[in-house]
Amino acid sequence: MQTSFSLAQLADPKIAASNDILRTCVHCGFCTATCPTYVLLGEENDGPRGRIYLIKEMFENDRPATAETVKHIDRCLSCLACMTTCPSGVHYMHLVDHARAHIEATYRRPLPQRWLRSLLAKVLPYPDRFRLALIAGFLAKPLAPLFALLGLRRMAALLRLVPAPPPVRPPVAATHTHSVEGVRKGRVILLDGCVNPVLSPNINAATVRVLHRAGIEVVVPPNVGCCGSLVHHMGREDEALNFARRAIDAWAEEHQRDPIDAILITASGCGTTIKDYGFMLREDKAYADKAAWASRCAKDVSEYLATVSLTPRVPPRPIKVAYHSACSLQNGQKIFDEPKELLSKYRFVVEDVPEGHLCCGSAGTYNIFEPQLARRLLDRKAANIALVQPDVIAAGNIGCITQIAKAVTVPIVHTVELVDWATGGPAPKGLSGEWIADGRHSDDKPIAGGRVEN
Ligand code: SF4
Ligand code: SF4
Repeated sequence: MQTSFSLAQLADPKIAASNDILRTCVHCGFCTATCPTYVLLGEENDGPRGRIYLIKEMFENDRPATAETVKHIDRCLSCLACMTTCPSGVHYMHLVDHARAHIEATYRRPLPQRWLRSLLAKVLPYPDRFRLALIAGFLAKPLAPLFALLGLRRMAALLRLVPAPPPVRPPVAATHTHSVEGVRKGRVILLDGCVNPVLSPNINAATVRVLHRAGIEVVVPPNVGCCGSLVHHMGREDEALNFARRAIDAWAEEHQRDPIDAILITASGCGTTIKDYGFMLREDKAYADKAAWASRCAKDVSEYLATVSLTPRVPPRPIKVAYHSACSLQNGQKIFDEPKELLSKYRFVVEDVPEGHLCCGSAGTYNIFEPQLARRLLDRKAANIALVQPDVIAAGNIGCITQIAKAVTVPIVHTVELVDWATGGPAPKGLSGEWIADGRHSDDKPIAGGRVEN
């Protein structure tokens, strides 16, 4: 694609980076076929190619974002299916991240939107605030239909996402070193995160148990918290970079104290952002090297567990798992087979969900800001999952787990919770049955179905 930036514009490294991306696009349109919003709406500007043109036009003319551009960029899920399909290697993620930051800096949203975005940015990344907000949200949940009637769709969507009952605080502080007895076979940092430990503390607890069984020491350094992903996708660049710097400092300090092999992440949305820290902080002389180091160390838990050997046990009966491939895992990190191979290794019967390239509609805060499109994608995802008729659904991202749980009647858990269960850990919520170590099957302890509420 031809671009016409002036030399003065190209002196800005961000514009220069976006210019390089724009010039790789050959406007072939292959990406439109896999773009969920294009599939739903059939509108060029709601597909990647149309959005790329809107962004190009906005940057080339050096102008504030218009309401029309904002509408189409807001509708983008950042699912990155377009990047997986693109034959030219267009780095749409960096382009849309730049566009979102430009929108945040130059566009004044209507007051209710500004208020809601600000509220979410001040609450979601902080586990204690988020926990309190969930309790308040639980009390206000019956008002969701009233908010919808009053036209406050986003507020109604937010309340519908609140789990009932609200999650309780984990009994043990998560931030410390989980040492191993005997020979230490490895040492990793685990990102505790912000939303993950509040909505589903068992995910990180299961990760620690599995790694402990494998002789891997796990350390959860204090003062890390949110990785910045949530605000990054809202275009709040400075806040995102500050979260990133804080995490990098804590990890680097821990690595200096006692070297680590990897930084493990159990929420793939966060993993995609942390793997991009090197790019995000490339212009920050004090952090560029450290950020690149953190990105190199970052691994999704499934990626790391693929290199770990634990003795597989025998399930209570064949358990069919519908594997939901989170967009941030399959497109953002190009991790597609590892989680499925991991589940097969631990004797689950794994099946892909049809139309697996289409997002479930979660996409960070997308299901709050764009509730109607998110609901259509969720219903489509639930219908595709039903075709598989699974005993359980596995996914690698808390956002997808929370979103899909609203529309299915079988349990949905994190992949690592199933690996934990298969290697001696407790049954994840909604499941039951004893695994057998000696190779016999037992059909007398069936898998329990039931809706998962978190
Ligand atoms: S597939 Fe790639 S090159 Fe083709 S229009 Fe989409 S982004 Fe551009
Ligand atoms: S990130 Fe997803 S929603 Fe956005 S343009 Fe690409 S495929 Fe479409």
